[in-house]
Parts: sequence; structure tokens; C-alpha cells
Amino acid sequence: MDKVVALCKRRGFIYPGSEIYGGLAGTWDYGPAGTELKRNLKELWWKEMVQLREDIVGLDAAIMMNPKAWEASGHVEAFSDPLVECKICHQRFRADKEVEIKEHETTHKEEKVEWTSPEQFNLLVKAYLGVLEGKQSEIYLRGEITNGVHVNFKNVLDSTRVKIPFGIAQIGKAFRNEITPGNFTFRSREFEQMEVQFYVKNDEKKAEKWFDYWKQNRMDWYLSLGMKKENLRFRDHAPGERAHYAKAATDIEYQAPWGWSEFMGIHQRGDWDLSRHRQYSGQDMKYRDPQTGEEYIPWDIETSAGVDRSALFILIDAYTEENGRVYLKLHPKLSPFKAAVFPLLANKDKLVEKAKKIYDDLKKDFMVAWDDRGNIGKRYAAQDEIGTPFCITVDFDSLNDEMVTIRDRDSAKQERVRVVDLRAYLDGKIK
Ligand SMILES: [Zn+2]
Repeated sequence: MDKVVALCKRRGFIYPGSEIYGGLAGTWDYGPAGTELKRNLKELWWKEMVQLREDIVGLDAAIMMNPKAWEASGHVEAFSDPLVECKICHQRFRADKEVEIKEHETTHKEEKVEWTSPEQFNLLVKAYLGVLEGKQSEIYLRGEITNGVHVNFKNVLDSTRVKIPFGIAQIGKAFRNEITPGNFTFRSREFEQMEVQFYVKNDEKKAEKWFDYWKQNRMDWYLSLGMKKENLRFRDHAPGERAHYAKAATDIEYQAPWGWSEFMGIHQRGDWDLSRHRQYSGQDMKYRDPQTGEEYIPWDIETSAGVDRSALFILIDAYTEENGRVYLKLHPKLSPFKAAVFPLLANKDKLVEKAKKIYDDLKKDFMVAWDDRGNIGKRYAAQDEIGTPFCITVDFDSLNDEMVTIRDRDSAKQERVRVVDLRAYLDGKIK
């Protein structure tokens, strides 16, 4: 884990948030490589969930919402963890985190630690709106992105041609007042989610069918991104640990260095959200079947994934050490750069000019890196560590035969390819 964290900093994937001011616990900033990785992940998700499907549409709701929406969703009341506080140093811990509690007790050495009894603590982050001091209204930064979808259920029904079953997809930031952020970006106070709320008929059998469908669909997607099968598993929630809205819930977990950890969930939320919004807003949330005329409040099968957690586990999964070489074995679709272009020598104008021409041409269609520093070995090492699948070198032969050397990241093998075939070559390897 330390090696992955160090690489993320060294190569521009992830930095501690506000680092020059000593940081802000539970926040992270994505550097140039990390930004591309995250963007690729989100674009692939959107393509799979929205572009390629006829039954899912997109939405981009506001982060700030009328606070009533959070009362309706049950978060004001139930979105809290029972906490205990160390009576010596007043640090708070989740009451169910026995390992962390035991660990903390050892930090006080000889002293006997006493704990307060567990108390509820709300995870919603408060914010204040209004220009006049004292006349501000208290709102919440959204604690999950789901709510913005449900409050627009009717708008989407009325403005598009969707028919049950259908889904609404959204990607966006959410905020939680986590007591103990940790494990790098795994538990952060600001994070990004990608979710589909998939509305189905209010029918146990149909809901179960769609629940199973989405479980497998999501697992298959992560496998298609090259994640190792042995590091992924399903874990069904026991009735007692399910969130307040869930009728059934399964996590997809990753075998992280600190143990199996959830990074996405599939939840059968029933009609909880729409019914509550109907009750709190007084607005009709029913769906009318165009064929039968039947009216009902649909059930919701939610797939909810953490973008940051997915990116983190993809990075950990891709980290490879082999024969003294460190590289990220990222699926080319996810790699920040699809190729890097080098002139063999930076001080030979002819080579630079030719390489630059190739770089300028390829960058119209691909994220391509340029590097003319140091020697080829150093450039390969740098590209390996950000997971660039192909390095293209222009050498003296290139000036005569219109061919370049392509070096493959994973095998380190090299082959000669005609310049005119480069685009097709990359297309064939990346898609
Ligand atoms: Zn303490």
C-alpha cells in the first residue's frame, strides 16, 4: 500500500488535499495522471450505462438541495453512526469498529481508557446559504447523489419517453462528515459517485430478477476493465446491517491490502424514496402504465459505485513489480495516456521534428504524452509508472523507412510499425 501511495504522489495521480497548508483530513486532489484515469473511468461507465443502452437516461442534479429532501430521504434522522468518545483525548470512533477502538487504547500506554456510551452523530455536512449574517439558512451538502434523481423522477417521466423498467444515471460529488477518514482515498469526506436508479414494477419477482441482473452486470464490468477475478467478490448484507432504505443489498468487495472492502453496492430500495418524497412534498410520484392504465409507485434497484474507490482499487490491482521493473498494468482503456512519443535524441532536430509531427497527429484522437528528457530507459520507466501501454520512438532509421519502434508496456517487447499505420495500431489495441 505504501508503494502505491508513493507512486500516486510521485507520478501525479493523487496528492493530499490542500497539502501546502498541512492538508485537510479526508480530502484528496487528483493530479494530471489521476485526473485522466478518473475521467476515463467515468466516461467508460457513462458509455456502458447510458450511451449503449436504450433503457437508461442521464441526469446532473444540484449538490445543494432543499433540506426537506434530506428529511424525506431519512438521512437527517438515520444517516448517522453510533460513536464512542475516548474520555482521555476526546477522539471519537464508530462504536462498531472494535479493532480501531482496541488500537486506540494501546496509544494511551499505561492509562486505562474509558469510553462514553455510544451516541448518534449525523454524517451530513452542513452549509449555510444567504448573504446576511444571522439570516442564513442551513442546508446540507448532499450525502449521496441518489436523492437528486428521485426528486426528478416525475420531471424525467414527463419530459422523455421512458417506460418502466428504466434507469436514471448520474455521476457527481457527495460529502460525508466521516469521523475516521482513512486508508488513503478509501474513506474520504468528499468523494464522487456513479449511480443508476433503475425503476421497476412493484413486484417481488421482477425486482429480484433485476437485482440479480445488475449484480452480475456490474461484476462483469469491473472484470472487463482488467481487474483480477480473485480480488473481487460479492457480499450480501445481513438484514441487521442493511441501510435504512434497503430491502436487499449486496456489495462488490475488493481484496484491499487492509482486507476485503466495499467499493460498490447493489440495493433493492423498494418504493422507499418515491413514497417518502410523495409524503413530504405532497406531489404525485406514481407511474401510469401506458398499456394497462395501472398506477403504482415503482421500486428502485440501485447500483451505486464510488468513483474514487474504484480508481483506488484499479490502481492497487494494476501495480506490478517484475524483474526490478515497476509498472501499472492498467487496461489501455483506463490508462491516462494511450501512447508516449519520443525522439531518440532530443538534440537532433530532424528526429524531434519527425516525432513532433507524429505526436501532433495522434493527439487529435488519443491522449498522448511527449517526452524528450534524459535517456530512453528513464522515459520508459516514467511511462511504465503511469501505465502508458505503448511508447513510440523515432530513431534515425525512421527518417528513411517511415517506421517507428513501438515498445509494449507489459512484455517490454519492441516492434517496428509504419507511421501511416500508427492510428489503426493503437485503435486495435485500445478498444
Ligand atoms: Zn484517546
